[in-house]
Amino acid sequence: MASEQELRKTKANSEHVLLLPFMAQGHLIPTLALAKILDQRTPHTITILNTPLNIQRLRSSLPPNTTIQLSKLPFNPTDHGLPPSSENTDSLPPHLILPFIRASESFQPHLHRLLSSLCSAGCRPLCIISDEFMSWSVDSAREFGIFHSVFNTGGAYGSAIFFSVWTHLPYKNNTTIHTAQDDEDEEFPLPDFPETTLRRSQLSESPRSVEEDDPWAVLFRKHLSFIERSDGMILNTVEELETKGMRHLRSKNRWGRVWAIGPLIRPPSPLPIVETNCIEWLNQHPPASVVYISFGSQNTINLSQMMEMGKGLEASGKPFIWVIRPPTGFDLNDEFRAEEWLPEGLEERIAARKQGVLVKKWAPQMEILGHESTGAFLSHCGWNSVLESLSCGVPIIGWPMGAEQPFNSKLLEEELGVGVEMARWSKAEIRADEVARVVGVVMDGVSEKGGEMRRKAKQIAEVIRGALVEEEGRKGSSIRAIEDFIQTALSNRRIDGCFKTH
Ligand code: UDP
Repeated sequence: MASEQELRKTKANSEHVLLLPFMAQGHLIPTLALAKILDQRTPHTITILNTPLNIQRLRSSLPPNTTIQLSKLPFNPTDHGLPPSSENTDSLPPHLILPFIRASESFQPHLHRLLSSLCSAGCRPLCIISDEFMSWSVDSAREFGIFHSVFNTGGAYGSAIFFSVWTHLPYKNNTTIHTAQDDEDEEFPLPDFPETTLRRSQLSESPRSVEEDDPWAVLFRKHLSFIERSDGMILNTVEELETKGMRHLRSKNRWGRVWAIGPLIRPPSPLPIVETNCIEWLNQHPPASVVYISFGSQNTINLSQMMEMGKGLEASGKPFIWVIRPPTGFDLNDEFRAEEWLPEGLEERIAARKQGVLVKKWAPQMEILGHESTGAFLSHCGWNSVLESLSCGVPIIGWPMGAEQPFNSKLLEEELGVGVEMARWSKAEIRADEVARVVGVVMDGVSEKGGEMRRKAKQIAEVIRGALVEEEGRKGSSIRAIEDFIQTALSNRRIDGCFKTH
């Protein structure tokens, strides 16, 4: 357990900024990027709190001589019915994700003790930046008079729709959203943002059939109420990229101040990377010719989907890099059995023809997306993947699987014009001919559709790049937002038991 003795102030006369990320790669990666930016741009001591295993992984991704501190919070997975050493969602099957999220609340007494010891030593932290999944921390922040902000690792548009959908539960008998019982494609305006419409088919099974006591509904309601009590929300996005989403989030004044401070995409090497020669392989292919396929840090697909994907990718004739894990129902940590789980002889054929590389478990995603040979990303539309792809000017073939991913896919296709949705939900029926067709459309850089998507993706990459640029007196929107965030925390900090007035 960290104590105030361990929590040194690494910068003279500085106050602590405590970062509390959720234990998943999609949350730890942007948090580390945030820590680095705050460390470079502010005089404060930046400390990331997490479980021992995640701290160990983060440590290996820190630059040498950094002043960022890492501090361990004790966590015993077996106390929560989880397998030993489950400290990150990447080692968990889907049915254990919910208990794992709930288990993270066991940090609360430890955080409380830490804040108590820091405050009694006269070292009240300047602020707590807490993952939305750890938003219970708002209670401790309130108790000790510390400025609290949620760090939403999603995008603005996807989050705004997600919050709206889950706020207006239960949907089972909700006439606002059940405009047409039988027409899956009929659009309805969102209760909170009528200018944005959604199709019933874009709602996952849960919000459509959920009862009040559904465990996910209970969890989201709880999170939403914590988040509402926070002083604000920072998002890993770019203001100019998501004007509509940012407008939605600010429209109800429900989430306090809202700041877009992305792109937070600096890639650490968080997992033991299985030796791949992706980059060497990419070097042998022409610009924008390769499709990269990955479904994030914790998803896999089922056996029949894997077979059809394999056939479809091969039939497309396009070169590809496919991050692949054992199919649903098998142990994710098992060796990959290509002879059982992929079309017969596929791995040998694609290797012999230099058509494809299978990366078992984990790929250097940013390096692949940033390589000039990569022409499209077939993705589950997790927000980090979306932002990473757009930062590199790479269009996206969407297969959103759950959470707010369908809304991210909607943003890409309908609002930004840089995506085509190939399938939806983890149980989607995948057909090889459809995979080959969609890959063909997006990879055809000279066709109207493919060419337009590429052009727009390049423009968006420039917009994203500009957000963190500071040159000749001009500051990008995210730099200004970070400064405003710190200024807001400073002007709200409690001195001698009372809040300073502005
Ligand atoms: N990632 C990676 N290599 C992989 C799979 C994922 O580097 O083989 C990284 C990816 O670059 C991104 C994160 O893991 O930063 C996944 O986050 P995302 O929000 O896309 O999806 P999630 O894993 O949260 O569903």
